[in-house]
Amino acid sequence: MFRFDAITVDSVSEIKSGIKRLLDDRYADLFPSDKKSRIVIKPNLNSNMNALTGNTTDLRVVAAVIDYLKGRGCTDITIGEGTNSGYYRSGISVIERLRYDELGRYYGVAVKDFNYSDTAGVSFERGVKAGVARECVEADFIINMPKIKTHFEAGMTVCLKNLIGCLVGQENKKKVHGALSDNIVNLNLAIKPALHIVDGVISMEGLGPTRGTPLKTGVIFAGDDPFIVDLMCARFASFPYQKVGPLAAAIKRGIVTERHLDFVKDFPLPHIFRFKPPEAGPLASFIHSPKRQKYFLAVRRTPFFNYLCSTELGGKLLYLTGLRQDVFIKDEMRWEGLSLNKEKCTNCGICARYCPSEIDLPQAIDNADGSQLQDKCIHCLYCFSVCPQTAIDFHGEMGFMEEQQRQYGQIIKKMVI
Ligand code: SF4
Ligand code: SF4
Repeated sequence: MFRFDAITVDSVSEIKSGIKRLLDDRYADLFPSDKKSRIVIKPNLNSNMNALTGNTTDLRVVAAVIDYLKGRGCTDITIGEGTNSGYYRSGISVIERLRYDELGRYYGVAVKDFNYSDTAGVSFERGVKAGVARECVEADFIINMPKIKTHFEAGMTVCLKNLIGCLVGQENKKKVHGALSDNIVNLNLAIKPALHIVDGVISMEGLGPTRGTPLKTGVIFAGDDPFIVDLMCARFASFPYQKVGPLAAAIKRGIVTERHLDFVKDFPLPHIFRFKPPEAGPLASFIHSPKRQKYFLAVRRTPFFNYLCSTELGGKLLYLTGLRQDVFIKDEMRWEGLSLNKEKCTNCGICARYCPSEIDLPQAIDNADGSQLQDKCIHCLYCFSVCPQTAIDFHGEMGFMEEQQRQYGQIIKKMVI
């Protein structure tokens, strides 16, 4: 029988208590009994856009899972992800920008960019062999922790597509693009995470994975079968599962059966949303139609196209035409501190609900010497981003975050109220 569960959450305390209860009550038997077992947590760190934009896995959800693992006495925990190739190629560390390195330091767990891992070969369609991060093959227990997003190429991305980040570097990711949907299925059959915990606290609708709109959906899903979880997420988003590339491939291959579809159809979900579909601009839609995509992929693999992608002008052109979703801003954030504008603060408590470190906000920001923040603050700027009164002032240089604030600042503030 399949295992699947849904909980509704909003604040960091609900996320942490909800995940603990869920894992204790329903999934405890799956965890290895040996405390020294190698555990890999695989979040979705697709780009440097933080969880509040709907793009990447929420630090609060990963923190809750680490808390749980630590509570069980687990000693060998690694957060690992091979982030988006464009950032990696531009020398930008998405892991640092999203503050996952700081989260790891705070908890004393390892954080690994799989783009730099040793490889283990996995077989894909058409005789292709590509390298996945050795950590994924050698792990005793993998927890897949994707985000719910609509996706302009794959339809939706949740558990199945998240494993693309286990491939090492751009060259290995590119190798599987020829038959992407089938290869995503193959990747899941090869790596087989034992548990899937989906961050649906804030999802992304519309033109995902990086040009969509965040949507507060307030759920965490868990399950032991990625096909069931992805089918359930499609139902949750009112998105036709037949249009989700990897699910369609799995149905064609007989991996997803009537048994899966019946289980999903009857499951009592807490809500059903109607996500806006991922409609790309005319040029991107033309090129990415199934009939023409193989020609685009052939062009994409040429040295000239790779050169074009690496130039600033080329990158801007691709972004403007919609053929590329990301902007690779080189400027890093420089942090000098936060301060509280007491006249603006209404004590609404929203900032405290979003702080992954459960710092006593906003009081701790107001603390004269900042000492209450120093030990626990991981500089994620969630509190700053959500404050509807703009009562938290940031000191330093925003760097790449400035563009994110320009695009999503107001949307996030309205969404969290
Ligand atoms: S979110 Fe803003 S207004 Fe609300 S308590 Fe925090 S600082 Fe004050
Ligand atoms: S205080 Fe703000 S910046 Fe620091 S960890 Fe909490 S939410 Fe992030």
